[in-house]
Amino acid sequence: MLTSDASEATVKGSVPADRAPRKKDEKLWFNDGTLIIVAQDTEFRVYKGQLERRSEVFKDMSSFPQPTADCADSPCPVVHVTDSAREWRHVLGLIFDPDDEQSPFPTARRPHPSFELISACVRLGHKYAMTSTYQAAMAYLKDHFTTSFSVFQKHGSWVPEGDDFGLVHTIGVVNLARLTGERTLLPLALLECCRKGADIVLGFTYSDGERETLVAEDVGLCFAAKDKLIAATILAYVNVFGPLPARDCKLEDCRRALGLLSQSTSRKALSCPSPNPIISFNYTLPGATTPQLCEDCRTTIKERERRRQLANWKALPSMLGIDVPAW
Ligand SMILES: [Zn+2]
Repeated sequence: MLTSDASEATVKGSVPADRAPRKKDEKLWFNDGTLIIVAQDTEFRVYKGQLERRSEVFKDMSSFPQPTADCADSPCPVVHVTDSAREWRHVLGLIFDPDDEQSPFPTARRPHPSFELISACVRLGHKYAMTSTYQAAMAYLKDHFTTSFSVFQKHGSWVPEGDDFGLVHTIGVVNLARLTGERTLLPLALLECCRKGADIVLGFTYSDGERETLVAEDVGLCFAAKDKLIAATILAYVNVFGPLPARDCKLEDCRRALGLLSQSTSRKALSCPSPNPIISFNYTLPGATTPQLCEDCRTTIKERERRRQLANWKALPSMLGIDVPAW
């Protein structure tokens, strides 16, 4: 795991005590706590020893600024950090108010963690070398933004379940991948960004009002990739229900069903679909009297679809213009 230089960040964060009035966090203030963390205008009073167990950086407090004037009348050491209070609230909440110390997420209380929580754990976990926090959050992301097509298919959705992890947050996943060097997250996360429209430049807003967007280079990358992804998607639409070799099936119903499926998918292709070169199709035509494919034809076409999906999955990094080792 990479760790950025916490000391640099905290030096920048050594804001004078008189700059802004500060408030104690409602939940994460323990009267007998042994360390006060100041993030933006919020003070968290927690237990130093417990934090040291989780964070290599907090084990060595010399990397933080030495006590400043505002520590003189403080009951315990004070550290200033440059991260948001929101991020610290999430991470300290996990450490000091856990529902399952072994497995931060998902748990019964947090079956579907929000993107905010995952993002805070990755960012602070990475910066302060909180290995277990970082690894749990990263494992959750990697399970969804997977390198395996079969795992992706099992999930059956673009983003993790839950109301607080939406398609727009894939912008944040790209940024987390860039921050941490976890490049295997990028193909799916960028593909999902490419499915967005012009609002991709607006990014998304966290609960405290902070906005996050893609960096300009990644917006450009999505712009360049979209044409290739749409071309691969249209080919998928057009080819999957193409004619079968005559020897495969002689049934008239199959011939007619294949023609109808081909017509309807071609119409959909013409409506300029969102890029999805790994799309799965429906093989059943609506209507009780409509001809349907026989089992053999269905199997043949599903196999054709699977080959195309796997080939396009493999080609995702090159279509997106990125290099992902071991993809
Ligand atoms: Zn058939």
